[in-house]
Amino acid sequence: MTNNKYGLASLRKQFGTDEKCLEFIFKTLHTMECTCGGTFKRKEGRRQWQCSKCRYQLAPTAGTIFHKSDTPLSLWFHAIMVFSNAKSGVSAKQMQRELEVTYKTAWRMLTLIRKALKQGDDTLHGDVEMDVGYFGGKRSAGRDNKDLSRVMKDKSVVIAAKERGGQIRAAVVADASAKTHGDFLGQNVSTKGTRLMTDATRVLNNVALGYDRYMVDHHMGEYVRGDIHVNSIETFWAHVKRSMRGTHKVVSKKYLQSYLDGFVFHANNQHTDRGRFEALLGTILHASA
Ligand SMILES: [Zn+2]
Repeated sequence: MTNNKYGLASLRKQFGTDEKCLEFIFKTLHTMECTCGGTFKRKEGRRQWQCSKCRYQLAPTAGTIFHKSDTPLSLWFHAIMVFSNAKSGVSAKQMQRELEVTYKTAWRMLTLIRKALKQGDDTLHGDVEMDVGYFGGKRSAGRDNKDLSRVMKDKSVVIAAKERGGQIRAAVVADASAKTHGDFLGQNVSTKGTRLMTDATRVLNNVALGYDRYMVDHHMGEYVRGDIHVNSIETFWAHVKRSMRGTHKVVSKKYLQSYLDGFVFHANNQHTDRGRFEALLGTILHASA
């Protein structure tokens, strides 16, 4: 029976030493055979492998987020496990406590892990929900919403799309204009074989012309009509907002996209703890630092 959990016990067993982590990185990124026909062998006491024939040397951590780090690989893998299991996000403070490292080290590790999480670039199709959300900003709109425009200016605009039964994409964008929506759609959603589900916002009227579009009118109190709704995105917004408040308190505009990438990764990898950890490790190893 395979254990689908993946906690500290599993981690210690699989990646308890730097040696085991290094072997794994080599096997994930390289083969034992050199192009010259020779075989790579580990260089004693070094983070390097060498070809038996042409003497070519390989450093398996080269190009990965681990390469220029003094932090032991086993600690890095520990951080990746913590990140993988934290569906509501993890703060640098929590990571610092968990790994017993300095705040600076914890912050740097988290930043590099998130940076490796690029969202996919193939287009979504089928039943695709799309919606816009507003994040951050602390000021209130005041009486009669007279400061509303100033408050909205403080906020970050995020557009998200979700293919039902498939992936989520979420991007911090410059504004909520028609052009911006059109650009997002063009990059992320295929016009072919797509039923695009949106709110009745007029901003989409021209830019979504190429799509088979279905609307629910939130302003008229209509949220679901048959299978037409944007509930999956609403669920995503709610989860991200709740998690941000609970874990990160304040997120500056500068880092919002990388935090979103983390939430999108979790939303797109809802399999077992073990499966998600493996997916995260693979993603990080294949991303170039
Ligand atoms: Zn060789």
